[in-house]
Amino acid sequence: MTDAPAPAPLRLFNSLTRSLEPFQPVHPGEARVYSCGPTVYNYQHIGNMRAYVFADTLGRTLSFKGYALRHIINITDVGHLTSDADAGDDKMEKAAAQQGKTAWDIAAFYTAEFKRDLDWLNVRDPAKWTVATDYVPRMIEFAKRIAGTHCYELDSGLYFDVSTVADYGRLARAVTDEGEGRIEEVDGKRHSADFAIWRKTPAGETRQMEWDSPWGRGAPGWHLECSVMGEAELGMPFDIHTGGIDHREIHHPNEIAQNQAYRGCGSLDCAEHSGARVWMHNNFLIDRGGKMSKSTGEFLRLQLLVDRGYSPLAYRLMCLQAHYRSELEFSWEGLGAALTRLKRLLMAATTVREADGAAVTDHRLADLLEKFDAAMSDDLGTAVALTLLEEAAAMKKVDAGQKRTTLATMDAVLGLGVLTLERADLRIRPKSAAITEDEIEAALIRRKEARAAKDFAASDALRDELIAAGVEVMDGDPLGWDWQLE
Ligand code: AMP
Ligand code: ZN
Repeated sequence: MTDAPAPAPLRLFNSLTRSLEPFQPVHPGEARVYSCGPTVYNYQHIGNMRAYVFADTLGRTLSFKGYALRHIINITDVGHLTSDADAGDDKMEKAAAQQGKTAWDIAAFYTAEFKRDLDWLNVRDPAKWTVATDYVPRMIEFAKRIAGTHCYELDSGLYFDVSTVADYGRLARAVTDEGEGRIEEVDGKRHSADFAIWRKTPAGETRQMEWDSPWGRGAPGWHLECSVMGEAELGMPFDIHTGGIDHREIHHPNEIAQNQAYRGCGSLDCAEHSGARVWMHNNFLIDRGGKMSKSTGEFLRLQLLVDRGYSPLAYRLMCLQAHYRSELEFSWEGLGAALTRLKRLLMAATTVREADGAAVTDHRLADLLEKFDAAMSDDLGTAVALTLLEEAAAMKKVDAGQKRTTLATMDAVLGLGVLTLERADLRIRPKSAAITEDEIEAALIRRKEARAAKDFAASDALRDELIAAGVEVMDGDPLGWDWQLE
């Protein structure tokens, strides 16, 4: 047995301080994480899904490091306007009007679609899905506590005065409240960065989703929701708050301001005053083809990848190849390469799939595990961790049980399912395919028979038929994949 290596200390990049910091949980042994979830007025695009692959990988890493994880993801089913800066319509009400459905139906439909996408990506369920409309009474209580000292009322609602807290906008690094492209959108706001805590339903109108409050009938502001659900489920301060990098500019600075107000208004020099010790943001997935805008017809969502024959887990692997703080450019070629990489991993892992796991004593495997720990502990170094998983999978002349344990340990963090996926899971038939798997397999058997009988004319004819149906026959494919659909 090799000496057990000292586990690497976990370091995470905190957007609030713009630096790597050792992870020090608020409650020893625990990790409490809140991830801003989707506004369920439409499908999520694959860029959105990068945010949840990131949050899931963070959660898996915290579990791997031995922390008892409590992860919350919210569902925003009310209150998010078409602009992040208090302008435009409520996204939910607008979608409901467009589709001739109730806002509640819209929310239920897109929530289910979102959860299916998460399943496809092996994103683990959070400890709890917090649904914004379930927390409205609590939001009103929160708002009441800060209203007198930090808010003012206008005809359109209750607004938060950002000059009442120290260091407003530090997370965004906005120099002034005119910075970051903020625009005065609402008449009577004291500062352009002030934001709605409560939005009153305009006189003479009714909303599908509205509640009574001390500031009139209306709906909560989007930023308030996350402050309240985080505090309700994780206490305050909790450990880590996540979201996409766009949230670093408006949504999270506003959450922080509310949290500061709620907690007595300490300076942000002490990270705890912001409500969460660490604020983490994933960078964007970008697409030069402009297919990630939900306002255009066909946009890039996971279903489209599946329709074109790509396993969603190829997309997960594609995300893991990049560091979460780097931009990642989407391309179909890149996705194809990720799928091939996943296939190779799967093939390499099949030899130990049936083995009983055994404690790792082989020093080569132990060494890989140690490096894996170091990579993930260094602000989630997934790109390096992936290559270590591949090295372990490819290792020859090694005890099968120990190899299995090594792969299982690494895969529990990366979430690709390399020990459980079947080849068929990766061989998805494109929606446009003109032939079924059974027909392909039957043709391949006949072709094999023809070749065995040295009837090469028949064999070639079968191959041509398959090509015409969009099937590439891969004779001697080192991956043993036999065929693939174009
Ligand atoms: P939304 O439903 O708009 O609140 O977005 C859900 C999550 O996706 C948020 O954490 C966003 O910051 C994140 N997000 C939005 N667009 C992208 C993108 N292109 N790449 C990565 N994350 C994104
Ligand atoms: Zn949020």
